[in-house]
Amino acid sequence: MDELEKGPRDPCCTVNFDTRVRWPSLSIARRVKVEYRQCTNGGLEIGHGFQGREDATPWRSRKKGDGMLHTPDTDSFISIKHVSKSFGPVQALSDIGLDIKSGEFVSIVGPSGCGKSTLLMLLSGLMKRTGGDIRVGGQMVDSPRSDIGIVFQRDVLMEWRSALRNVLLQAEVRGMPMGPAAARARELLKMVSLDAFENAYPHQLSGGMRQRVSICRALLHKPPLLVMDEPFGALDALTRDQMQLDLLRICRETHTTVLFITHSISEAIFLSDRVVVMSPRPGRIERIIDIDLPRPRRLSIRESREFATYSDEVTQIFKSLGVLREGDDE
Ligand code: ADP
Ligand code: MG
Repeated sequence: MDELEKGPRDPCCTVNFDTRVRWPSLSIARRVKVEYRQCTNGGLEIGHGFQGREDATPWRSRKKGDGMLHTPDTDSFISIKHVSKSFGPVQALSDIGLDIKSGEFVSIVGPSGCGKSTLLMLLSGLMKRTGGDIRVGGQMVDSPRSDIGIVFQRDVLMEWRSALRNVLLQAEVRGMPMGPAAARARELLKMVSLDAFENAYPHQLSGGMRQRVSICRALLHKPPLLVMDEPFGALDALTRDQMQLDLLRICRETHTTVLFITHSISEAIFLSDRVVVMSPRPGRIERIIDIDLPRPRRLSIRESREFATYSDEVTQIFKSLGVLREGDDE
């Protein structure tokens, strides 16, 4: 396993600081984890405060010139061709092919362990594929992409920073000018109805509010692509509904392309332009379903006949794959 493969789950070097840490434009009090990784292009990746699969966007490369993503004029913003991934003898993904257009909202739905998170890690360049090609914005993904926004299930905010300063962490790590960044952070917090909470600390926020702060942080640098790995999985049903509505509104207003991972069939259908249905491991794309429902989506659409038809279609695929079994099927 090379060094790139290790991070960020298993950084090659982790240092814990109990007091003040200073790093070019970064100054954080209290206990902080700073992680260093050597990446394949020779650059040094630096992350901090995160353990495991946290929002990976704060990683940045000290090596200049690894290029920002540009939304291309071409049809496919993301192009995944014949991608496979094995972990030793375990084949996680097999022959994945998927094209996503700029501005599309695509969900991947599949059973636990089918390789959804692995695909996201490959797409973000945080893990190396075993075979195939991945291009984002026309560029081959062969090292961590610092300009993709990533949101994971666990928000992992820094408890000693206010909501606003958690969002601004993104700007500090990237060395963005603070004036415009603070204005943008406030605008994003307002979009998710958190403008009155910019000075609140994470322990003063509900789970949904915390996850909204994470989403604002992931969007601060205006990434053309947002990838989300079961971001609402830990939220209660009502909060989840609201988060889905908020996310759709943000994406509409910011024209962001989204790849959204979930194991909820109804969440995938409600949010998406297309739903990618995956088989159990080794994960393959079983079917890609166009969701032809009007936008903006309203919650009541979930009661419609069309929605039920899409839901049945996905359910039938999972039944045929043995992922879902009715009691009387035995
Ligand atoms: P999902 O997100 O769909 O639940 P994952 O992408 O996390 O699935 O995992 C897919 C498969 O790959 C699983 O069998 C998992 O055990 C395996 N896997 C994932 N990451 C690693 C790793 N770093 N090392 C070894 N096996 C892994
Ligand atoms: Mg996963």
